[in-house]
Amino acid sequence: MPSLARYYDGTTARVQEVRVRPTASELVLFDPADASIVARWPIEEIDVLGDAAHESAPPVVRRGGEARLVVEDPEQRRQLAALVPRLAALAAVPAPAGRRIAMLGSTLAVLVGVFWLAIDYGTEYVAPWLPYSLQAKLGESVFEELVADKDECHGEAGLAAINDLANRLAKAAGYEHEVTVHIIEGGPVNAFTLPGGILVFYSDLIEQAKNSSQVAGVLAHEIGHVVHHHPIKGMARAYGLEMLAKLVSGGYSDILNTLSSGGNILLALRNGRAFERDADATGVSLLEKLDLRADGISSFFEQMIEKEPKDAAAIAGIWSSHPPTQERIAATKRPPTGKPAFSAAEWKALREVCK
Ligand SMILES: [Zn+2]
Repeated sequence: MPSLARYYDGTTARVQEVRVRPTASELVLFDPADASIVARWPIEEIDVLGDAAHESAPPVVRRGGEARLVVEDPEQRRQLAALVPRLAALAAVPAPAGRRIAMLGSTLAVLVGVFWLAIDYGTEYVAPWLPYSLQAKLGESVFEELVADKDECHGEAGLAAINDLANRLAKAAGYEHEVTVHIIEGGPVNAFTLPGGILVFYSDLIEQAKNSSQVAGVLAHEIGHVVHHHPIKGMARAYGLEMLAKLVSGGYSDILNTLSSGGNILLALRNGRAFERDADATGVSLLEKLDLRADGISSFFEQMIEKEPKDAAAIAGIWSSHPPTQERIAATKRPPTGKPAFSAAEWKALREVCK
């Protein structure tokens, strides 16, 4: 099966799904829907951009052009690398997120410089390098927008319990910033992550969870999105690099206007299957790293598969790759061993966080 990839044409913000078929002399990119040819790249003109150690999916480029090709799936990258020696760098193992973040300079001038360099590298590169303060500001504004007509829950002990676990998980992944979990009263049964390490849980998810491991599992999955910078990458993909460029150059209010008038923010934050798989795998491994029960992700999906919300507001978050496939359940399956993620008192407080 030819690899599935995202194709950025280099002139517009449009992202196109393509399949990639390597031949002896060229990479043929074609539309999976009707098999029409999108581009033919001679093998001797292609390169893997940048250092593959910096990002899990380094873009492939054709020299002299602006177009980019990003193969999300690590297995498909390895296959392409095996078939095409010039793409050998695609098989390299990415560095931990912490090291990438540590590469950031501290002055704004450096950040802006890195940013423009990063734009050239495509959205996969730009997102983690966007100054964190701006990501956080963006996330907070989106949060305000989303919860404007909803009630937030303020039970202190419950919020402390879930925020403490969220930050322990994030820290275990080498994430250097504070993570904040908000709980919104009611439904749908959902949770999602915004830029700047802001997590939103609906209380219906906590209420319908059969045990604390399931909530911990969803939380760990969302922390997976945080440490992989999925929310800001999703927004970069949805709104284009131009808007993120404005963000850095100070045109911040324009962006919020576009976001709130441009319809559904949650749609922009939908995670593709590759992001979901990464978040699942990271979530499980973080729980295991802390010696906590890691069976909650798969058992949550198993229990909830029939209750998947159908309304428009609910197609983001934990349900992005809906329905949660048997494949995801199988991949995250773990025995119910290890310490409970929440003590009995913490779990009780969390269940009562909206009271
Ligand atoms: Zn997710």
